[in-house]
Amino acid sequence: MEACPVSNGGLSGFKRRASTSGLLGCRCVCRPLSGPKAVVCVLRDDMILTDTHTHLYDTQFDADREQVMRRAREAGVELFLSPAIDRDSYEAMFAFTRRYEGCYAMMGLHPTSVNDNPHWKEDLEEVARYLQQPPEGIRFVGLGEVGLDFYWSRESVSEQIEALRIQIEWALQYDLPVVLHTREAWDEMCDLLESYRGRGLRGILHSFSGTEAHYRRMKRLGGFLFGIGGPVTYKKSAVAALLSGMDLSELVLETDSPYLPPVPYRGQRNESAYVSLVCRRVAELKGVDPDAVAEQTTHNAVTLFSLSEPGSR
Ligand SMILES: [Zn+2]
Repeated sequence: MEACPVSNGGLSGFKRRASTSGLLGCRCVCRPLSGPKAVVCVLRDDMILTDTHTHLYDTQFDADREQVMRRAREAGVELFLSPAIDRDSYEAMFAFTRRYEGCYAMMGLHPTSVNDNPHWKEDLEEVARYLQQPPEGIRFVGLGEVGLDFYWSRESVSEQIEALRIQIEWALQYDLPVVLHTREAWDEMCDLLESYRGRGLRGILHSFSGTEAHYRRMKRLGGFLFGIGGPVTYKKSAVAALLSGMDLSELVLETDSPYLPPVPYRGQRNESAYVSLVCRRVAELKGVDPDAVAEQTTHNAVTLFSLSEPGSR
């Protein structure tokens, strides 16, 4: 057995097993994680992490998906929520969800798939058909990811808003939480969501990167959790600065794999095991034990998506 990396200054490459007392410290046993990449995870064995936003069905994982899943489970991740993108990847998402325990699919049309897409209305009809009749073995636990993304261009602003409003109505109709993608559009997103006040809309503001004013507006509106991912580990992270004023009961953890990797994996492919690094950073910023972060954020996700315990579906 090699030395404890945590007490040795926190080198990556090991999963720390809990000491019998369950206390943090160096009374622990460490073992290397399998595979080329490694993660420090400081969770008790009975703690479960939930990656509420991961695209592990993406072709970028085709070559080594089994190892990616193994590393995730070794890091304590047992629940995986997969937001949909568009028709090019729905089938891959279904296959992934059927194949692995603890994995759940959503349905929706991503805002960047509305941009420059003359067929976006037909694509939405397909979303409607899937919602009405989910494919064999699939239960959609959310409507997503949908939203507003004006980063690439503002030419499709009205189409994106229309597509989002149509899909929000479906979320209400099917009583599903919405997973909202927002980029360069926080003012517009807050305005739009406030227009649903009192209708019971609920969901996640994925990769929250709004200002304190946006946070306050959404908190006042109610019903929404804030998705915290890799960017919270970056040096100039706006959400890291806000975290001390946010309550754990308002947060869920996510990776957005294969995108938005946390430190020290910036520039590389992200994967669900790294949600443990997000957990650790949130714990540091809030001055609490990582176990408390894992426990509360998993509870938040399980409640929002009406998930069953890991091991069942
Ligand atoms: Zn995503």
